[in-house]
Amino acid sequence: MSKKYCYLFTEGNANMRELLGGKGANLAEMTNIGLPVPQGFTITTEACTQYYEDGQKINDGIFAEIMEYIEKMESITGKKFGDHENPLLVSVRSGARASMPGMMDTILNLGLNEDVVDVIAKKSNNPRWAWDCYRRFIQMYSDVVMEVGKKYFEQLIDEMKEKKGVTQDVDLTAEDLKELAMQFKAEYKSKIGQEFPADPKEQLMGAIKAVFRSWDNPRANVYRRDNDIPYSWGTAVNVQSMAFGNMGDDCGTGVAFTRNPATGEKKLFGEFLTNAQGEDVVAGVRTPMPIAEMAEKFPEAFQQFEGVCKTLEDHYHDMQDMEFTVEHGKLYMLQTRNGKRTPAAALKIACDLVDEGMIDEKQAVAMIEPRSLDTLLHPQFDAEALKKAAIIGKALGASPGAASGKIVFSAEDAKEWAERGEKVVLVRLETSPEDIEGMKAAQGILTVRGGMTSHAAVVARGMGKCCVSGCGDIKMDEENKKFELSGKTYREGDWISLNGSTGNIYDGAVPTTDAVIGGEFGRVMGWADQFRRLKVRTNADTPHDAAQARKFGAQGIGLCRTEHMFFNEDRIPAIRRMICSDTVEEREAALAVLEPMQQSDFEGIYEAMEGCPVTIRFLDPPLHEFVPTEEADIELLAKDMGKSVAEIKAIIASLHEFNPMMGHRGCRLAVTFPEIAVMQTRAVIRAAINVQKRHPDWNMVPEIMIPLVGEVKELKYVKSVVVKTADEELAAAGMKMKYLVGTMIEIPRAALTADDIAKEAEFFSFGTNDLTQMTFGFSRDDAGKFLGAYYDKKIYENDPFAKLDQVGVGKLVEMAAKLGRATRPDLHLGICGEHGGDPSSVEFCHRVGLDYVSCSPFRVPIARLAAAQAAIKEQRQ
Ligand code: ADP
Ligand code: MG
Ligand code: MG
Repeated sequence: MSKKYCYLFTEGNANMRELLGGKGANLAEMTNIGLPVPQGFTITTEACTQYYEDGQKINDGIFAEIMEYIEKMESITGKKFGDHENPLLVSVRSGARASMPGMMDTILNLGLNEDVVDVIAKKSNNPRWAWDCYRRFIQMYSDVVMEVGKKYFEQLIDEMKEKKGVTQDVDLTAEDLKELAMQFKAEYKSKIGQEFPADPKEQLMGAIKAVFRSWDNPRANVYRRDNDIPYSWGTAVNVQSMAFGNMGDDCGTGVAFTRNPATGEKKLFGEFLTNAQGEDVVAGVRTPMPIAEMAEKFPEAFQQFEGVCKTLEDHYHDMQDMEFTVEHGKLYMLQTRNGKRTPAAALKIACDLVDEGMIDEKQAVAMIEPRSLDTLLHPQFDAEALKKAAIIGKALGASPGAASGKIVFSAEDAKEWAERGEKVVLVRLETSPEDIEGMKAAQGILTVRGGMTSHAAVVARGMGKCCVSGCGDIKMDEENKKFELSGKTYREGDWISLNGSTGNIYDGAVPTTDAVIGGEFGRVMGWADQFRRLKVRTNADTPHDAAQARKFGAQGIGLCRTEHMFFNEDRIPAIRRMICSDTVEEREAALAVLEPMQQSDFEGIYEAMEGCPVTIRFLDPPLHEFVPTEEADIELLAKDMGKSVAEIKAIIASLHEFNPMMGHRGCRLAVTFPEIAVMQTRAVIRAAINVQKRHPDWNMVPEIMIPLVGEVKELKYVKSVVVKTADEELAAAGMKMKYLVGTMIEIPRAALTADDIAKEAEFFSFGTNDLTQMTFGFSRDDAGKFLGAYYDKKIYENDPFAKLDQVGVGKLVEMAAKLGRATRPDLHLGICGEHGGDPSSVEFCHRVGLDYVSCSPFRVPIARLAAAQAAIKEQRQ
């Protein structure tokens, strides 16, 4: 049998969301449970996919099936398209599987033409209504199907209102509306060059195609990418007979939530507008009444509606967001779905539903969107103050939170100003590793360049610091410490505010409030922890970050990068001396200065982690990242080392690499300069010994991670240095302590030879940032330049640095895990890198049997929840 592309509402149900889209599936479900739904049919998402496969055409088979279903609909409703007795009017509504609010437009009152409008005007004895429907239809059809801008029609309405001396649409008479309809048609003809279509079937096919087309509009594509919705899903189309809320004062239309979507409070929440249609309620044409008032003005319909709300909640076990219309006192349901809600409301509703016995704890955990927790963990703007604030720009919401401060233009200034107690926002063209201190000191970061995975974005997310990136509208003059935005010049010391979630930039200071982790949040996280198998660690380089992560429930550190500490002002001279040494002795002398610093850093981190496991990664980046670029710094270093400026410059020049990310870095540093590994091992072991002595009840097991291994022999060599040093240290201290030496799997060759690598490595940590970079063969820092074109051409749908590429990179991960465990069954496996906090990547890690994920402190709760959801999902399958 050939595929079925159309389903009557009576043929579908809520489980057919993939085929019928969310709206269609729920219209069918509401029909099934006996609620008053204007009848119609759904054209499937597969018809949409087919439309694209056929080169944006509706093929003959699908066309015939649509015609057949129109006839079915006609016999169900007893009305006929274009009929002069009893004409059928319909709405054409898009509906994807996942709701994509406002992405695709709806057309109402389709089926009208000049004959039909006369028929319904006479029959209803309500010409005002008839002409109101017609002018709305022409307007929507022109806008959605033919893309004649709305504004031309709105202009005509405004002119008409002015001419008639009225302010509200409802005050226009039948005659006025008729005249408007004629003007609209003329407008259509002048813009399109053809008469407005009069044949309802032609109108219908035009509308259906427009819905299919809208699946591929730029707004929809961006929304999908942001929300992990695959392009391949397609959208369904619903054709539904009209219910009219615009037939007079005993009619109206409304939207409502069964619970308050902002707070979660269990109380009907919504608005109702009399004598209105469709979007009027939300579009602000008139001020609607709160739903409570509807109870007084439409007691019967309201009572009926309350009953429907209860039925729907009991049926869906979740808060519902509904659209309805009252036609001459009778209620019609037009839509229901699980309502979108604020993260705080989501937690309250989940807990309330458990307490009401509507759902169990697993369902509660499963219904919270992990990523939404993010906004609960950062400072927020004061809601009242925000309403009054002026938006001066919008860019990428790269790292959530709210920030308000005085503008500074350099990391040094940020630090200096912050030290004297000022709140600052760091505004830069883009940031680089030297800016880290300044970024830390700032309330927030605003950059002119860079995307969601730019340095600023990645580092800010790691710190949990608000960041708005890529604001190309800024005309930057870093040298003179000023920029222009929105026609105003901003100078150092001027106040601005940033919203790192929306990307909004505000003029002046907007007060912020600290995030509170309320009781319901804790309750849901407690449940999540019971259900998950994956452990959640954090990526933290400082005791401060480690402590933050502990508060958020981290069970250890999966990645402690030792080099970040080297960028500190008091360390950088020593590390530069180490790099610019000519002899082993010179280098050892410089390392001796660094060693106690590293040791005390590690002690601080061990203390903050309270005995939880800590994986410390040895020095990784190319050395040239540390060398001075400023003349003055070079001179200082020369003096410090007793060398000439020319000699230092020669050393710096010799460190130049054509491709530093694939150059002298990672374990290659330890192979060439084993004394670095010796120093770092000593620091780790000594720190662990001290902390163990201070806390006899902790079981310290240091984990040393060798980066960038691609060949077992290089790991074996570095490991031998580590083991020799560690054993000497332990012997000298008279201590027995277990320690582990493992590696990052971040080079494809390491994944391919994981069975060999596991002979030496006691644990693997998948460094998926580098692994993605090396597998794709493009760097995270440069991908921004061309990924846009790849998205446009549908070659990639996501940034592989944000969401793990499960097909390619994931295959390496899975394979390496299997190979590794074949050699060493108790091999401990984890993932570090940005992916560790991305919910779909966490699910992948669960599936392939990793032991833990490690992510930045502010993503720890997200990963805990995502890990629980992965476990719950697996049980259900
Ligand atoms: P969106 O997904 O943007 O909400 P909808 O398809 O739900 O778009 O429709 C937009 C508006 O039109 C809603 O207010 C809806 O209730 C109204 N509407 C849609 N179909 C009908 C209909 N058959 N009768 C009356 N109103 C309708
Ligand atoms: Mg809707
Ligand atoms: Mg790496």
